[in-house]
Amino acid sequence: MSIHEIFLSSPIEEKIVWAETSYQAFKDHFLKDKAVLDGLEEVKNAIYVSRRKMREIGIAGICTECEEQEGGSCCGAGLENRFDGWLLLINLLLDQELPRTRRDEKSCFFLGEAGCLLYARHVICINYLCKKITRRVDPKKINSLQEKEGQEVKHLFLLNERVKRVLKALMGEPDRLSDNGKRTARDLGQGCRIL
Ligand code: SF4
Ligand code: SF4
Repeated sequence: MSIHEIFLSSPIEEKIVWAETSYQAFKDHFLKDKAVLDGLEEVKNAIYVSRRKMREIGIAGICTECEEQEGGSCCGAGLENRFDGWLLLINLLLDQELPRTRRDEKSCFFLGEAGCLLYARHVICINYLCKKITRRVDPKKINSLQEKEGQEVKHLFLLNERVKRVLKALMGEPDRLSDNGKRTARDLGQGCRIL
């Protein structure tokens, strides 16, 4: 089976269709691959740990104030364009459904009523700390969060590379992971909040 090509510049709706088509066609292959399965577990654990830390140090509450009292979060329209199809496919592999429509034209496509609808987020979303947060939260606590977020980004990056390798092998494409040393977690993109 062939899957139509998409690019980082493709509209988000097309990336979602690509991720869903790839998921439906190949989910059994992905879920039989031990490295993908282990990677999904690592990512789930890392996301759980970093989000728990965000709540513990008060960031989740500060972000909720923005949404409820200050006219909305910083998850603005256009941020969804940082996502590529791979990260959306990883969300599906983590059992996270993708939205079909944007809730608010001024907001990110993935912003739902109660916050971000994605489980696996872009590095930008994971790392972003606004001035309000850095003013109000103890720097030591922020450092400890950043350590956990570093693990989240690392495991997401490794899983992303493995998922690519499995799908490209299935499609008969050459394995481009030989440029391993040149790619970094930055390739997942870069940080916004709302959990
Ligand atoms: S990260 Fe965004 S939502 Fe959270 S407090 Fe800062 S501006 Fe508000
Ligand atoms: S955290 Fe979620 S809603 Fe906010 S910009 Fe990132 S993907 Fe969009």
